[in-house]
Amino acid sequence: MSRKTFYGGVHPPGNKHRTSSVPIRKAALPKKVVIPLAQHTGSPCEAAVAVNDEVKTGSVLGKASGFISSPVHASISGKVKKITHMPHPVFSRALAVVIENDGVREEEVFIPRRNDEIESLSKEALLEIVKNSGIVGLGGAAFPTHVKLSPPESKPVDTFLLNGAECEPYLTCDERLMIERADDILKGLAIICKILGVNDACIAIENNKPLAIEAIRKALLSTKYEILSAKLVVLPTKYPQGAEKQLIRSVLNRVVPEGGLPMDVGCVVNNVGTALAVYEAVYKGKALIERCVTVSGGCVKEPANLQVRIGTLVSSLIEELGGLNEPPAKVIFGGPMMGIAQYTMDVPVVKGTSGILFLSKAEAADAAESVCIRCSRCVQVCPAGIMPTTIANLVKRTRFTEAKEFGITQCIECGACVYECPAKIPLLDYIKFGKSKLIVKK
Ligand code: SF4
Ligand code: SF4
Repeated sequence: MSRKTFYGGVHPPGNKHRTSSVPIRKAALPKKVVIPLAQHTGSPCEAAVAVNDEVKTGSVLGKASGFISSPVHASISGKVKKITHMPHPVFSRALAVVIENDGVREEEVFIPRRNDEIESLSKEALLEIVKNSGIVGLGGAAFPTHVKLSPPESKPVDTFLLNGAECEPYLTCDERLMIERADDILKGLAIICKILGVNDACIAIENNKPLAIEAIRKALLSTKYEILSAKLVVLPTKYPQGAEKQLIRSVLNRVVPEGGLPMDVGCVVNNVGTALAVYEAVYKGKALIERCVTVSGGCVKEPANLQVRIGTLVSSLIEELGGLNEPPAKVIFGGPMMGIAQYTMDVPVVKGTSGILFLSKAEAADAAESVCIRCSRCVQVCPAGIMPTTIANLVKRTRFTEAKEFGITQCIECGACVYECPAKIPLLDYIKFGKSKLIVKK
């Protein structure tokens, strides 16, 4: 089934060809991991271990410190060497637990469940497993999944939307997961639907991923899932198709109100990687200790989709891929549109790391900023329907309250306006700055 799509958007070069046909492989077990206690939206974890403690793979390192929080687990077995502030890909620096691998053998705490045991689990028990396994949104936002799966009674949910759009250029980890693990993803989807108490589910994939579409279509035809009325929705390739509000508009034709959440229009959205993590937690008893990461960009000798232990340093991944062709102009965590530039290679992979890009000078294309020519292209492509140029000008003049009246808080930070702007004005930097000023003012 093909659908219409959301308002605005852009068509940047996909650059997915480097890794879209490269099967996922396990990265080597790191000798050392740096596991931040803050890897999710919400309050950071409280350390549950001390220096010199021996830990096994899956041991709890940090306990959730509130409802909107999520525990972190050891991704290797070994000894806790330090608990200190270390480089962090999102927060620059943050408190982290450093574990050194004992190099002897890997000891795990995970215990798989039998199928009959899983079938008898109540939705409350399943939700508790998701919560204790430290699962957060793996599409990049890292919002704790148990919170998303606990809508209040006042906001009934009728549809679950599985996000396989993967609209960011270069990234192919979700595409590969759908090709290689379609069956397990659908098992995760079935668990999520049971927790939410919904029967209707949609799986949304952009039309530039034919093999993933085919794999999911085949898995859906399997009789095992006939109880679930899940529909495959093939969407046009357009950025930011995978942004929650835009996806809901494209697939369900529902409009999330300003400042609202998907549950305000009766749905919950999760990424395909998150559904797979739910499967791993429930079927294999496995906490979120690893994830698939696309490592790409013009400077990488061997672009790859790697299954990486959380806390693995970028420097050790580069080594694993045979080094770089040339020093990168930019290293980005995530995709080139919404990703975060890094200042060191000693930064660890965290739960929200979907990609690591080593961009060459030509790819980074940091052109000089010039003056606005009032072409209105930024307005035409903005999927939030706001006026980036006007808002950026208000922020420049410190008129933050007026920027709010012009809808600055509706910006989803997709970067489409920056991509389209011929004057290379860093509109999103102004918008982010304006938003931060409004938060401080509250
Ligand atoms: S203003 Fe925000 S939502 Fe609109 S295009 Fe720019 S970054 Fe995207
Ligand atoms: S796209 Fe750039 S140049 Fe055109 S109106 Fe917007 S800010 Fe000005």
